[in-house]
Amino acid sequence: MVYNKIMDYSNKSFLERRPQRLCKMCGKCCRLATTADSYQDLLSKADSGDESAKEFLDTFEPYETLEDALKADEITVKNIPDWKNRTFYYCKHINNDSNLCPKYEERHTVCRTFPTSPWAVTPPGCGFEGWLFQEREAHKQKIRKLKEEQIYYKAKLKTEITKKEKNLYEKLIKQIDARINLYAKYGSKDW
Ligand code: SF4
Ligand code: SF4
Repeated sequence: MVYNKIMDYSNKSFLERRPQRLCKMCGKCCRLATTADSYQDLLSKADSGDESAKEFLDTFEPYETLEDALKADEITVKNIPDWKNRTFYYCKHINNDSNLCPKYEERHTVCRTFPTSPWAVTPPGCGFEGWLFQEREAHKQKIRKLKEEQIYYKAKLKTEITKKEKNLYEKLIKQIDARINLYAKYGSKDW
């Protein structure tokens, strides 16, 4: 079954595949970060014991104003969707003279895992840009192949087939739909 072969594309997770050597250690992602949650929501989550929120706030401080964030890195700020309504943060630990991380060995997961997915928004010029593009394209290619397979299964359902085959094709069609939906927020319906 081609479907299974495609699903076994790689046993390594995104973070295991990510080549850390591509990081230029420019510090841009340390000087400008943002989250989908508002600052107030992050504070509430941290108060409720959410470890990710606690780690983020233990690492980052919000810029006082949007203008301050724009002064720090206008290009990166304007590269973020809905930037006018976001809070931007800077790392309170980075050494501004050496540009080095004084907490490198014990840095939090939020730092260890950046960029966290092929769709992570990285600062322009980030060393991972090209590799993330390749990862996104690989995902798109997999989804396109699955869609081709799904067309084949749907066509088979219109032919003379056994009940067992019908059940199998219907199951595979649903599995492929679920896979496509995993990437819906990145536009997978149109890939
Ligand atoms: S912006 Fe990219 S290249 Fe620069 S430090 Fe962050 S991950 Fe590394
Ligand atoms: S703790 Fe280190 S790696 Fe994390 S944002 Fe600050 S300087 Fe960057």
